[in-house]
Order: sequence, then C-alpha cells, then structure tokens
Amino acid sequence: MSAEKKREYQGAGTGTRAVWAGEEGPLWQRATQVPVVLSVGYGYHDVEEWYGVATGQRPGHIYSRNTNPTVAVFEEKVRLLEGAEAATSFPSGMAAISNTLHTLLAPGDRVVSVKDTYGGTTKLFLEFLPRLKVRVTLCETTDSEEIEGEVAKGCSLLYLETPTNPTLKVVDIVRLARAAHQVGATVVVDSTIATPVNQNPLSLGADLVVHSATKFLGGHADALGGVVCGPPELIERIFHYREINGAALEPMSAYLLLRGLKTLHLRIRQQNENALQVARFLQTHPLVETVYYPGLETHAQHELAKRQMRAFGGMLSFALKGGFETACIFLPKLKYAHRAANLGAVETTIAVPRTSSHVECTLEERRAMGIPEGLVRYSAGIEEGTDLIADLQQALEATLSAAG
Ligand SMILES: *Cc1c(COP(=O)(O)O)cnc(C)c1O
Repeated sequence: MSAEKKREYQGAGTGTRAVWAGEEGPLWQRATQVPVVLSVGYGYHDVEEWYGVATGQRPGHIYSRNTNPTVAVFEEKVRLLEGAEAATSFPSGMAAISNTLHTLLAPGDRVVSVKDTYGGTTKLFLEFLPRLKVRVTLCETTDSEEIEGEVAKGCSLLYLETPTNPTLKVVDIVRLARAAHQVGATVVVDSTIATPVNQNPLSLGADLVVHSATKFLGGHADALGGVVCGPPELIERIFHYREINGAALEPMSAYLLLRGLKTLHLRIRQQNENALQVARFLQTHPLVETVYYPGLETHAQHELAKRQMRAFGGMLSFALKGGFETACIFLPKLKYAHRAANLGAVETTIAVPRTSSHVECTLEERRAMGIPEGLVRYSAGIEEGTDLIADLQQALEATLSAAG
C-alpha cells in the first residue's frame, strides 16, 4: 500500500513470480537479497517530503505498524502469485481472517459459511461475531444448494474454505460466488491448503483470498504470518482496520516467509506429487478404511476439484480401521513424519484431529462433522515419495501385527 509503481509480471509463470516478484526495487547497498528492515521509524529531510509520504503522494514509509519495506515485499510477492490488484499482511493466518471479518461486518449483518472451516475461524463464527450482533449461518460444506438457499435469504458476506481441513472437502467457488454476488455479498475464500500454485480463487469469482502464510507459503514452519489479497477498495479498508488495531507482520517473519516463497512452486510440485502417490498407496492397504484426497477419482468432488484446481495439494487424510486406538499405535511407528499440529512444511507432519485441531469437540460433534475417530491428517513434505510410502508401509504392517 504505497505510491510506488508496481510491476505486473504479465505472462510470467508462477515460478518466475515466486522468485522475482516484489524484489525489483532499488538494491540497498547493492544487496541482491531483500534487507530485513527492523527500523520502526523512517526519517525525512524536511516536513514537505514527510507530508508527501504521509499523504500517499510519495513512496516511502512512516512507521512500521503501518508499512515496512520488508513486509511490503512479502505482500507484493503474494499479490502477484494470486493475480490480485492489492494485498495486505498480518502476523498470523487467524489475524488475517479475524481482521478481514471485523472490517467487513457490522452489527445486524449476516454471514453465510460452511461447517468445515478451520477451527479458529469456526470459533470466530460461533463465539466472537455473535457478541457483535452478527448473525452466522453455517451450512453443510458440500451442499451447494443449501448454501445458495441461505445466501438468497440475504447476507453481506459469504465465507468459504477449500479444500477443507482435515477431510479435504471441495467447495464450488464459481457457483457460490455467483449466488453471493446476486445478493450483493462479498465472497472471501481461505485458500491456505491449495496455495496459489494450485488454485486462484479471485479468478474463480471470489472477492478476497486469505492465506495462513504459516503453512505452505512460508513452508519451513519457522514463521507465523497471514495475508489477504483482492481489489484496492477492499484491501485499503482492511489495511486501515489492521494498522489501527496493530496487527502488523514482523519484518523478520516477512523475510523468512519471503525466503520460503522463492521455492514455493518447487515445493508444491513435489508435495502435490507425494500426496497423490501416498493417497493411491493408502487406498490399497487393508488397514486403511477411507482416504480423503481430492486428487483421487473416488473423492466425492473430484470433478469439481479438477475444474477449479490445477493440482490437488500436499495434504490428505485417512481413517484407520480400529479407530483411535489403531491411530495411537500407528503414529509413533513413522520415521519420516513429525507428530505435530502444523502442516505445509518441507518435513512431513502427521496429526490426529481428535487430539489436535478438534480436541475440544465432543464425539457427537466430530461425528456430525464427518470426522472419524481414527482419522489421521497427513501433510506430505518434500521428501522422496518412495521413502514416504515405504515408511507408511512399514508402520502400517507393524501396527497390524501389534494390534494382532
Ligand atoms: C492454520 C490455518 C489457519 C490459521 O493460520 P495461523 O497462521 O495458524 O493463524 C487458517 N486457515 C487454515 C486453512 C489453516 O490451515
């Protein structure tokens, strides 16, 4: 968000954008890498120059809660990866989602969303927004007709997430965005699991796309961050809300995320490939009850996924026969997977939603959300796919013998 003229990278592919976008500015001290500017303030020779920057007529920065040069490069890179006109950043994915919703919603407004949103987002819908007299309706995630029906009753915001975490349901962005625009609603899509390599919600009709940059964008599980992209009118409002509310991304985190982003296309290509191979292998194993991955022909929304995604992402989940007890035996037997809550990292991570993302739900709630007790969420890293499959195979065999 500054007066600088931005380069658009027309015709350049995702990989070229991942490497170059946002980095073409003047090289500070001839450094080829983006400097980490920790300075909170920026000094000016005279009041006139200062005034020019403060009023947006000249490029520059005033105070790092508002804008910061390192953070601006991160925003610019993601903006160009999503093919958006504008972007602003946040210290976490939840900050991006929460600040966006608080900017766009006022008492009396109504939001339509789905039951399978990220746990923190569901909490905003059920706990915090109702306090502000915002009405929330959560629909069956894959029931487009129900969502269209609720939207048609009138709403100011349609909030979608696709694919979902942890059961990889796919939501029809084109169809639902069309329904929302008929009633004048703004469409927000959380595209964290897909990444801009696999899906661009803005080109499918969404008004805003949000990401937890903590996951695949950064890719190294060493920095929290969030970002929202869309048209300047909306992004300026969200930027204004977040600068006043103090949700500023740290420059050091922006640098780490930028460094991760330079290999986004390579990582996601490998993770797409690994997840697909792993999903296909798991489907053939007798201890595995169901595999959830939009890239499988057996996935309920596979055709839709093929229409709106270029590839199907690095995350999948599967249910083990014998439920939670079997999952408890199985997890520690894996060599190449951190048993950890994060996802989207270069290392494979594995989690059991029953004890991680959905630990606060009751058995009945998890059942209603279609989360089997023995569900395992698997975020494929960039290791060799053959090693991941061999590791899963030995762990499944060892679990079979241990379970007798
Ligand atoms: C992790 C995640 C978030 C929240 O992001 P944080 O960076 O942890 O705040 C939001 N949406 C999805 C789909 C996620 O996986």
